[in-house]
Amino acid sequence: MAAPSLSAFSALPSLPALTDSLGRVIHDLRVSITDRCNYKCVYCRTGEVGAQYPELGIDEYLRLVGLFVDLGIRKVRITGGEPLLRRGVVELVRELARLRTPSGEPLDLALTTNGHLLESLAAPLKAAGLSRVTVSMDAVDAATFERITRVEGSFSAVLASIRAARAAGLTPLKINCVLLRGFNDDQIEGFARFAREEKVVVRFIEFMPLEEGRLWSPEIVVPLREIVERIGRALPLVELPSRDASETARRYTFADGVGEIGIIAPVSLAFCGACSRVRLTSDGKIRTCLFSQVEHDLYGRLRAGASAEELSAYIVRTVQGKEARHHIGEPGFLKPSRSMVHIGG
Ligand code: SAM
Repeated sequence: MAAPSLSAFSALPSLPALTDSLGRVIHDLRVSITDRCNYKCVYCRTGEVGAQYPELGIDEYLRLVGLFVDLGIRKVRITGGEPLLRRGVVELVRELARLRTPSGEPLDLALTTNGHLLESLAAPLKAAGLSRVTVSMDAVDAATFERITRVEGSFSAVLASIRAARAAGLTPLKINCVLLRGFNDDQIEGFARFAREEKVVVRFIEFMPLEEGRLWSPEIVVPLREIVERIGRALPLVELPSRDASETARRYTFADGVGEIGIIAPVSLAFCGACSRVRLTSDGKIRTCLFSQVEHDLYGRLRAGASAEELSAYIVRTVQGKEARHHIGEPGFLKPSRSMVHIGG
């Protein structure tokens, strides 16, 4: 695919960094390139409905991401749905890897995947310029894993992909695990051993009310404190210092320094005050929070012929209105109109 001309963007006057009305600097963009998925994880999809939103062309994602990068975004994560289902994903990575921040730096370019199709794509993605990959994996034993994904053979496919990604140099390799009480909370200690044996960073994520069905309740969330205590009883943990203010994970290593565990606790220890993220959905809408009740139609404006300057001004205005925080667990909390798979996790 030919690189689109970015000359229109470089002609923009230098704009201030994307900063919201609370002073949070936004430098992290998550881009969903499809809301289709080949897994039906019990806590995410009902399995009844597939894609709900149209996909843009790969060159259109590139054009929209280019606008954000010119405004100060320096980290781009490609997600979905399942992004590896999307034809053209390697070419998209190759073109994104050519973009430069206003200070001339390449992007920190990451991708989140369920790993089912990663084994053969790991080396091409690395060669195209992908910096890192995060693989979602919710159990370390095959039976539990396949009960969650509802896809036969998924465990061996994902394990092979993790090893292929490590061999391709897509490191540090992160494994995301969403814990649900009664589904996979018996996997915690096994994941600690897996992190050490497979030389991966395992990050436990608290379950958020973003599922298609109605599974979420405060009781099903396994809180950070419980995870730390349980792992610590099996293998003593040492907390690592945070690397920057917008880091979402609390990080731990083991007493011997081998292996790393992270815990992302949006429910029990919300980090909205340090949030540096916005999202672009697969149909080109900006979401300034996972729990936004409103979406901002960037692609609609592009299609209507808005100039690069107009689109950039729209992004800046939209980011200024970013929500202060999510309201999970508070009276009157409203789930967003899209679930996680259709927003882009
Ligand atoms: N298909 C890709 C994958 O599996 O990584 C990318 C999309 S998926 C929606 C991104 C991440 O969101 C996965 O790690 C998934 O486990 C997580 N996720 C999905 N629903 C969630 C929820 N309700 N709360 C917390 N994490 C969730």
